[in-house]
Amino acid sequence: MMIIMKTNATPQQTEAVIAQVKSMGLSVHLSQGVEATIIGAIGETHSIPTERFEGLDGVDVVQRITQPYKLASRQFHPENTVLPLDGFTVGGDEISIMAGPCSVESRSQIIETALAVKEAGASALRGGVFKPRTSPYAFQGLGEEGLELLAEAREVTGLPIVVEIMSQVQLDVMIKYVDVLQVGARNMQNFNLLRAIGESRTTVLLKRGLSATIEELLMSAEYILAGGNQRVMLCERGIRTFETATRNTTDINAIPVLKNLTHLPVILDPSHSTGHADYVSAIARAAIAAGADGLIVEVHPDPAKAVSDGKQSLKPEKFAQMVNQVGQIAQIMGRRLATVQGEYTKQGWA
Ligand code: PEP
Ligand code: MN
Repeated sequence: MMIIMKTNATPQQTEAVIAQVKSMGLSVHLSQGVEATIIGAIGETHSIPTERFEGLDGVDVVQRITQPYKLASRQFHPENTVLPLDGFTVGGDEISIMAGPCSVESRSQIIETALAVKEAGASALRGGVFKPRTSPYAFQGLGEEGLELLAEAREVTGLPIVVEIMSQVQLDVMIKYVDVLQVGARNMQNFNLLRAIGESRTTVLLKRGLSATIEELLMSAEYILAGGNQRVMLCERGIRTFETATRNTTDINAIPVLKNLTHLPVILDPSHSTGHADYVSAIARAAIAAGADGLIVEVHPDPAKAVSDGKQSLKPEKFAQMVNQVGQIAQIMGRRLATVQGEYTKQGWA
């Protein structure tokens, strides 16, 4: 339920309404926007009549949130969430491009890729170290050794690192190293993992499940937000359809739909959504034109030798070309590419 305060409501009146909400066993989410102060009452509100709040001093209107997700809803939080991320922001005017290999394979591979994507204009480095492979016999990732290598690549380039987490047992080690926790498509509905991440304060990139609806993606985001972690971005990475010419089908519709339904930043992954390096740039351009806040793209110095997802990985030169085109589209959209400010040292960003 949303309790919208009058524009001239006093802080004391807002406090009194909050106290009333809490006394009914509900939790409070306060949003103090430019236009209005909105008090979100979260919990079992369906049996509580709106009149319980309508008569209180300073209250303008009381509305029920019709969607099953609350904290993720734009109705609840009308302004875009803009996440600060080490020198740049996600969800505001800047377009962030996260890039790097599907898997971290070796020191030279990750350092070379990190330098190349930085040079081309990426604002974050991606790399998997715990890999969700369809076959148990396929390469499963370097684990903590891979995290060490990513941390070294961050020191060399200043790029924050985005790494997939597969299970809550990895949370402590992941938080120690990473800037953004990626929750992969296969774990979008791993509710125990989402709850554990909700208790952390690390930024999350939540990918849409292979066959998940947009509403299911938003319900998964709600698990993280409900735990108190507001640092969530969503990622469309293609869905399963009857089409076999591409690995998945990019749901371009999801971008404007999500921007309408939620205040959270929306990222597109053109690598997994197409599965072919030849189609990645076209879909990356389309995503920015459709209003996405950023991209996550697989780049490998030698895709033919990649241990995973080589077919969809861009060579650094192709990636640089893509960034250039995306930058031009960003400008048309009144936006600009994010660049990392400052340098990373073992103590953090300077
Ligand atoms: C990945 O980013 O390498 C990955 C496994 O992605 P997804 O979870 O979208 O399949
Ligand atoms: Mn991959």
